[in-house]
Amino acid sequence: MPEIRSASLPEEFKRGMHVVITGSGSALPDPVRGGASQAVIVDGVVLLFDCGRMVTENLLKAGVNPATVSALFFTHHHFDHIGSYGYFVISSWIAGRQDAMQVYGPQGTVAMSDGAIHGAHESDVGFVRAMTSKVLPDVPVTVQDIEPGVIYEDHGITVTCAETEHYSAESGKKSLAYRVTSKYGSVYVSGDCTPTPDLIPLASGVDLLIHECAIPDPGMAETVSLGRGKRGHCAPTTLSEFGRDAGVKRILATHLPPFRANAATVAVSELYYGSVSLGPDVEDAFRKALASRFSGEVGLAHDAQVITIAG
Ligand SMILES: [Zn+2]
Ligand SMILES: [Zn+2]
Repeated sequence: MPEIRSASLPEEFKRGMHVVITGSGSALPDPVRGGASQAVIVDGVVLLFDCGRMVTENLLKAGVNPATVSALFFTHHHFDHIGSYGYFVISSWIAGRQDAMQVYGPQGTVAMSDGAIHGAHESDVGFVRAMTSKVLPDVPVTVQDIEPGVIYEDHGITVTCAETEHYSAESGKKSLAYRVTSKYGSVYVSGDCTPTPDLIPLASGVDLLIHECAIPDPGMAETVSLGRGKRGHCAPTTLSEFGRDAGVKRILATHLPPFRANAATVAVSELYYGSVSLGPDVEDAFRKALASRFSGEVGLAHDAQVITIAG
């Protein structure tokens, strides 16, 4: 096989532990926020958590070649977390991926992956296979359904997951939260959920708590958010309390509403977030509420944001 162009990473990601926010938005379309997802990079090993809208684009904005992602962990299978999966697999295959990407997720992940690759993208698979003198001969993924526990131990990185409450009672589908630990520190990825006390051990003392914060606190904005009152999503005051109780060092809220969106974006979010615009005032209220119970650093994520845990 001719030499495949080697995938490269920026120098700063080749050492230490870093996070790239590959999407900071909600389930609905938002031109400035992709579907909530993030990459954790340890000594140049790139682990991706979820694969919704704009993952590929945000990796590229941060200077990360998507073909360097070695493992992908799904929190759950809602469309805002899997929406770019087929595209990601096919486009990074064409881009010269050199090793299969390991894919993990809750029960149903193998079926979802097969449906995306060999259902929706079967014609692409045939097309790319015809390029086999230049790319790997088979679709470069290995996929497995996982249960809570230690999922990944390699390159000095440990990934552990636990089950969360995200409409589980209604759908019967599990959703997972992950903790990534290395010699440099630790990062928690919530997926979608209301944080519950049983998740405190997984989040305990992490350097960075990346947590969904999809809904306003009661009274913060007049919304009709779907699932309000059920264990589906997290509001900023609840997140502040969870960060405090878990003793984390820093909270980064993600899966955010379209705070500063134009009228068209507000319109597509109206059924989800209600008829009252979630404007800059609500964004400020989110920041204040995040700091209301927690004394460490808090922030709202934005797309292509890079956070260094240890350089
Ligand atoms: Zn979501
Ligand atoms: Zn969800």
